[in-house]
Amino acid sequence: MNHLSVRYLHLFDPWNFPLCTCPRKYSVDPYTGCEHRCIYCYITSYVREPWRVRPKKDFLKYFERDLKRAAKLPVSMSNSSDPYPKMEEELRITRGAISLLKRYDFPLIILTKSDLVSRDADILADMMSAVAITLTTTDAELARKLEPFAPPPERRIKAIEILKSRGVPVIVRFDPIIPTINDSEENIRSMVKLLGEIGVDQIISSTYKAKRDNFLRVSGVFKSKADKLLEIYYKRGEVVRGIRYAPRELRFKILLQVRREADRYGIPFSVCREGLPLNTAPTCDGTHLAIERFKE
Ligand code: SF4
Repeated sequence: MNHLSVRYLHLFDPWNFPLCTCPRKYSVDPYTGCEHRCIYCYITSYVREPWRVRPKKDFLKYFERDLKRAAKLPVSMSNSSDPYPKMEEELRITRGAISLLKRYDFPLIILTKSDLVSRDADILADMMSAVAITLTTTDAELARKLEPFAPPPERRIKAIEILKSRGVPVIVRFDPIIPTINDSEENIRSMVKLLGEIGVDQIISSTYKAKRDNFLRVSGVFKSKADKLLEIYYKRGEVVRGIRYAPRELRFKILLQVRREADRYGIPFSVCREGLPLNTAPTCDGTHLAIERFKE
């Protein structure tokens, strides 16, 4: 590998996906691959050996070089993996990356399903940061089917509480919501009620988007829902740049319910890649929460 060709900091969404409303930002993944094996995961369509986690070669060295050359944009970590795989406990590469972002003064949004993120609350509390933790349900059994190797909901909730107690803004990504699977009124109500009680700073939600490989996994795990999902996504749904969406009116109905519950608890809300006018939060991805910290 030629060291000049190595770049670990990339502009987010260089393909300009038509429904992406994110502000300009960078994306970085300290690791390749992800061990959570979420059945709805989309990285399986473009990452080689997607479930095998490996650290990127000389990551911190090249990442620091990239930061020195970069414009001062927010950094999102990570979008095609989880920055807290089990090996991070020992390797501390993500922790090193966070320290560099703090040193060079970049706003940071962390995206994770791991409670290990709370280990780094000491650094995160003292820099422009916000943490987005994904929770698709509070039901441990359902979570095990959806995200078989990710920490269970109660551990993620504990991490949210720790981060909040240290003053780190926390976003919960209630996504994806899969019609007929985790879109029940009960699931939506109990989830948002819990988040309201904890006092999270934003909820980001979106519906499941189907690609052939993740659709086969989802319909394989939820066999009794397979016909209904096929109808929703492949008969009635719409296609955006090769990705299958549920019909717009169904997506609106589901996400409006989340928004209404969020309103009830005064939690800013946004949708991700939906093209639906439901946002109440200043930015769809919560970057304002990181940027506005320490501003009086
Ligand atoms: S955490 Fe994200 S990258 Fe990892 S398996 Fe789940 S959906 Fe894929």
